[in-house]
Amino acid sequence: MEEDYVFKIVVIGDSAVGKTQLLGRFTRDEFFLDSKSTIGIEFQTRTVDVARRRVKAQVWDTAGQERYRAVTSAYYRGALGAVLVYDITRRRTFEHAARWVDELRAHADKSIVVMLVGNKADLPRAVSADEAAAFAEEQGLFFSEASALSGDNVERAFLRLIEEIHANVS
Ligand code: GDP
Repeated sequence: MEEDYVFKIVVIGDSAVGKTQLLGRFTRDEFFLDSKSTIGIEFQTRTVDVARRRVKAQVWDTAGQERYRAVTSAYYRGALGAVLVYDITRRRTFEHAARWVDELRAHADKSIVVMLVGNKADLPRAVSADEAAAFAEEQGLFFSEASALSGDNVERAFLRLIEEIHANVS
């Protein structure tokens, strides 16, 4: 059956926070030990049902471009949602989330829906959930911690994002 909507969702955040693994977990329910096996693939899709509509989520990966600060406006073009990922074990990746929000404000559509994800929740933390939740609230982002490794909360975070986008467009 044809889908009713296609939503472009971009995954952003510092290098090695787990962007590729989160995407793989959501679209294929997989975690790759060789984490860069998807390099070169620009996006993956998964179709989900939201409010009796079929939504194809087209989830884009930076494919390592963020290492060279070369995430271009083309990457953000047409994106309705963003998953902004930091690594709860590395405080700097959380501190950089503010920069990624600035990137979005500069390059993405004003109405883009953003889900802040504190990944690697299976490991000892260096950032409290309260602090991240406060930052998310101040910036108007949704927030969830998750683990691409265990799968905890990954589906929930993506589905919540898709539901919020759907609420905006329908
Ligand atoms: P990217 O550069 O942001 O796309 O990060 P990757 O998806 O390549 O992941 C970077 C590293 O973190 C890899 O070694 C992954 O195996 C590891 N990793 C990713 N997600 C998790 C997670 O939820 N828990 C743990 N323990 N390791 C993870």
